[in-house]
Amino acid sequence: MTNSRSISTSLRIPTFDNVQTARVRIASVAHHTPVLTSRTADARTGATIFFKAENLQRAGAFKFRGAYNAVAALDALSRKNGVVAYSSGNHAQALAYAARLQGVSVTIVMPQDAPEIKVAATKGYGAEVVFYDRYTEDRETISRRIAEERGATLIPPYDHPDVIAGQGTATLELIEDVGEIDLLVVPLGGGGLLAGSALSARALLPACTIVGVEPEAGNDGQQSLRKGEVVHIPVPKSIADGALSTYVGAHNFAILKDKVDDIVTVTDGQLVETMRFFAERMKIIVEPTGCLAAAAILHGTIACAGKRVGVLLSGGNVDLKAFSALLGER
Ligand SMILES: *Cc1c(COP(=O)(O)O)cnc(C)c1O
Repeated sequence: MTNSRSISTSLRIPTFDNVQTARVRIASVAHHTPVLTSRTADARTGATIFFKAENLQRAGAFKFRGAYNAVAALDALSRKNGVVAYSSGNHAQALAYAARLQGVSVTIVMPQDAPEIKVAATKGYGAEVVFYDRYTEDRETISRRIAEERGATLIPPYDHPDVIAGQGTATLELIEDVGEIDLLVVPLGGGGLLAGSALSARALLPACTIVGVEPEAGNDGQQSLRKGEVVHIPVPKSIADGALSTYVGAHNFAILKDKVDDIVTVTDGQLVETMRFFAERMKIIVEPTGCLAAAAILHGTIACAGKRVGVLLSGGNVDLKAFSALLGER
């Protein structure tokens, strides 16, 4: 406890109360997304699976929840000076949209190789977009400089208490809608969704097993959980473009190490097969990153036979050219 103690004193670690506050803030604007089921998925796994369809959330991913909550929590002066974010896509779109809905101006720092659909959508929501090179420049430094110049507030994609609390509302809804589950499986990038989900699941269902899923090429979260401290890795290469973070956040890790049981990985091939499953069998488009948790369940990475399982489908933002290219590969 000594090590984590010294870290957590400087951090404001969110609680389930903060998730409930977030839920009230976003209630009139975020979609209460549906929970989908599939006999094929149940037959394939021997489990009863509840897919929480955040691919159908506003702006196409769960990130709208955390972004809206973070903007709603700002004081009047901060609102006037606007917000800044760096993001590989979905957080940018979500923050741009959430800020516009609340009359707050927004600047987004994005990698040059961000998916076209995400850049276009971010601009479409009225954000100013500044590009950087993912492999040579540091997005945090650039974002901080812009924030300082403009007096704007930096809203990070995951390492922030109000973002985490907002993300936790998806699992709160899921558990309220389906009742008890034995296992909750959640995609993991920087840990906003997993940390928020863990706050809700641990509070409502203390015995529920909570598992995060990362791309195999970027298993920093798995290494971190095993080592008991945050492990940094080089920028991973994976089709899961929403989970290319190189370390989990400090606020996030404080929650994960307490409340998450395990972190597993899946391959890009398994993600593609899972995208195909959703398109063919369930008639929905789920982006590669959005398939992480489902891929681990459908490919037997996590044992789930006989269990009631909640699976977060985290997003659906994939441009159709990329989607068909991936599905055409085999
Ligand atoms: C951001 C994102 C993730 C990862 O979320 P974190 O909060 O960074 O762990 C997973 N799926 C999608 C679709 C995302 O946009």
